[in-house]
Amino acid sequence: MIDAWQQVVNTLARATQVPAALIMRVHANDIEVFISAETADSPYQKGATEHLDSGLYCERVMDTRQMLRVPDALADPQWANNPDVPLGMISYCGLPLTWPTGEIFGTICILDNRANPFTPLAQELLSAFRETAQAGLATVYQQSLLRDVNTHLEELAATRAQDIAQENSRYRIILDALSESVIIGSPQSGKILDVNRAFCESLGYTRKEALILSPTDFDPSMDAQRFASELGSLAPDQQIRFETCHRRRDGDEFPVEVTVVRAEIHGQTQLIGVSRDISERVAADSAIRESAQRHRALINNTAIGIIQCDIDGRLQEVNPAFASLLGRTVEELSGLPVTSLIHPEDAPSCARAFQDLLHGQTEHARLELRFLRRDGAVVWTDFSLSRQQNDVGAVTRIFCMAQDITQRICAEQTALLKESHYRSVVETSGDGFWAVSGDGVIIDVNQAYCALSGYTREELLRLKITDLEALEQQVDVDARMQQIIRNGHAVFETQHRRKSGEIWNAEVSATHLAQEPGTFFGFVRDISERKQGELRLQQAKAQAEAASRAKTEFLAIMSHEIRTPINVMLGMGELMEESCAKEHQRKLLRKQKEAGKALLALIETTLELARLEQGALSLKNADFVLLDLLRATIELFEQNARAKGLALELQIAGPMPHSVRADETRLRQILFNLISNAIKFTESGSVTVSIAPLPEMPHGVRIRVTDTGIGIPAEHQEHIFEHFTQVDSSLSRKYGGSGLGLAITKHLAIHMGGAIRLRSEQGVGSVFEVDLPLPPSAPALESVPAQATPDASAPLRILLVEDSEDNQMLIRAFLQKTPHALEVVNDGAAAVRLVCDGGAFDVALMDIQMPRLNGLEATRAIRQWELQQEGAHLPIIALTAHAFAEDKSLAIAAGCDDYLTKPIKKSDLLAAIEALAATPCSES
Ligand code: ADP
Repeated sequence: MIDAWQQVVNTLARATQVPAALIMRVHANDIEVFISAETADSPYQKGATEHLDSGLYCERVMDTRQMLRVPDALADPQWANNPDVPLGMISYCGLPLTWPTGEIFGTICILDNRANPFTPLAQELLSAFRETAQAGLATVYQQSLLRDVNTHLEELAATRAQDIAQENSRYRIILDALSESVIIGSPQSGKILDVNRAFCESLGYTRKEALILSPTDFDPSMDAQRFASELGSLAPDQQIRFETCHRRRDGDEFPVEVTVVRAEIHGQTQLIGVSRDISERVAADSAIRESAQRHRALINNTAIGIIQCDIDGRLQEVNPAFASLLGRTVEELSGLPVTSLIHPEDAPSCARAFQDLLHGQTEHARLELRFLRRDGAVVWTDFSLSRQQNDVGAVTRIFCMAQDITQRICAEQTALLKESHYRSVVETSGDGFWAVSGDGVIIDVNQAYCALSGYTREELLRLKITDLEALEQQVDVDARMQQIIRNGHAVFETQHRRKSGEIWNAEVSATHLAQEPGTFFGFVRDISERKQGELRLQQAKAQAEAASRAKTEFLAIMSHEIRTPINVMLGMGELMEESCAKEHQRKLLRKQKEAGKALLALIETTLELARLEQGALSLKNADFVLLDLLRATIELFEQNARAKGLALELQIAGPMPHSVRADETRLRQILFNLISNAIKFTESGSVTVSIAPLPEMPHGVRIRVTDTGIGIPAEHQEHIFEHFTQVDSSLSRKYGGSGLGLAITKHLAIHMGGAIRLRSEQGVGSVFEVDLPLPPSAPALESVPAQATPDASAPLRILLVEDSEDNQMLIRAFLQKTPHALEVVNDGAAAVRLVCDGGAFDVALMDIQMPRLNGLEATRAIRQWELQQEGAHLPIIALTAHAFAEDKSLAIAAGCDDYLTKPIKKSDLLAAIEALAATPCSES
């Protein structure tokens, strides 16, 4: 185009005959000589520029957009500063050049170095050439326009390509970032076109491997037919969702939920499948299903009634327990309003509870409701209600549980009834009543206790039971509480303090309530009067006991006094018997001895009475020949019987043991009493003593004393064994006696393990029957002689300490024919002196009752001296008339080695001496 324009301006300059023809163009703030006609005298160079606002002719053309014609600038002062004038160009004609858009391009002009008016032809030529330039401009413009469009299109294409690349990579990233598996495939062939990372990972394939799979490879349930009918035939944008199982490369299967959509991508129809692993959901669903089944089983099998109601209170679901509670079936209850099953009195409270739940006032409710069974019976229930809400908080149903509490309610009602009974019993009781809790606080009292204690009920309920106890420490109370808890009950006496401070004696019968551990109740009785009575009784008893002791002491002294002379008499008799040659005299002496023994036995009897009254009777069992005893005892009465003309005989009925082990003296005493009574109260006829075995008692023997005497009237028979009881108690009575014999006999029989009874008829006679256990002696013992004579060969030095000359004589006589030497002193003091002065004795015989120093004191002194001297132990045998057991213990305690009771038998004395003398000192 530049060339074309050069042609134009060259031609224009030539045609108009001017030195300069130009095409100027605006370039930023300058105006530039764009094309200059190639004439010889043109002062303008191509590319020369001039700043706009310089006052050029062209500036004016561009401003006015009209032709400018300056015929002579020199003649027109407005062009005085025009830079063209100095160049010699004083005339000018120009036209504007514009782009097709109307924007200024520049000018086309012709200039002359002389005044030139520019002919119309010249102006036409200029216009014509201007059109040509203008057309060129249009062409340039269009070309530049096309170039721009092209560039723009190229840029657009580049951007688009970049976008597509970016889109592709974004698509891949997104696809691979998805946790769900994505499969893109062809709807016709089922061929897999693309898969994402999740698909590969979940199935264990690489992408490359996945792209050659077919749907049946990973979905065992999918075959070609199903694919074609379900997936291949999907309409555009239609989607389908189904659950199936996918199989991993290793063969494992897992449940998935698949969504498939048919879509057009890049003009291609494709199936896009998204699958999600639903193993967890399936497991959760199955857990929920199992839980629901368990739940259902629980509801169906529980003993608690469970119901579900709609919000109108109608039964939607009922479990069998609820139906059976009401004696109905599950089916017949369904749909019924729950209130129609409730007792009319309880229905309003149930309805209220429903409303409260529905309106959100409460979340749960619990009440005791009575339901009515089909047969009309009332069932008490513990009824709980709760509500179920949906997501927006609206109540959708009400759940209820009903537990049968009829039994408990009945028990409570019974308890209430009992409580009222209890209250009336407690209040009407004359005794005081209290109930305390485990910490001793009083929780209940009756009116009687208020009256006894002087407190009001309100005051008592603020106190502890210990506040009322007068004497005891808290520990005592605790110990007693423990005792009551252990035994459940205790009766005890204590002292309480009234409000006034007065102390009173109380008898408390306390019980611990096992069903309410820690709670006690007690009935309290005022026993102050009884206590005073008991005190009086105790005093009276103490007095009586003192009197009894005095009597016993008196008896002991008397027995001593009587025994001593009898002892001497019997001893003498024994000596005489030994020295007497004539058999007849010896027999008399024996009888005298027997009588003396009987007398001693009587004294014993008197003592026995004292012992019996003190309950201190002791049996001395030994072996003896039973029939010998019977015969000897009967023999004692032969003379009496003969004198009265009575037949006295012994009958032995059945086999009897030869030797028995029992208390011989007691048995003799029994026989003596019964036979002497029989002879005493029989005037004519006979007295028979019979003995027979008694099979019903072990080792039993029955001794019967039968007489044909006066007999005992029936009215006296009942009391005849009591003390001091006689049939004839008048002063003028015919028969002597004390009335003690039968009483003692009965005591003895019982004490020996037997019994006594009487059969009698007045005027006919009496039978006294005594049953006793008399065990036979051991065979070895039976063969031993009853009294072995000690070996008297070793001579001993014996010291006798005895104040009674008679007894001194007796002992001396006993020891006369022995080798022993006897030394005698009269009292304890002399004996101690003798022993301590070195009198070497082998045995001492120590009387206990002596003047100055008695036997016990003397023994103690000797033992003391022995201890100091470290001397040998002197065996001491105590001799006493005292018959009480405690005397023996006193003697032994004082230091005596043995003990002999007077009257002393020679054989016993010798045996005791020998036994002690033979005992080594260390054993003493
Ligand atoms: P005592 O004979 O010393 O009076 P007992 O106690 O031995 O005392 O007897 C009490 C009474 O029993 C006698 O007084 C007598 O009335 C009556 N009695 C005892 N034995 C007989 C008997 N065999 N025959 C008739 N009466 C008897």
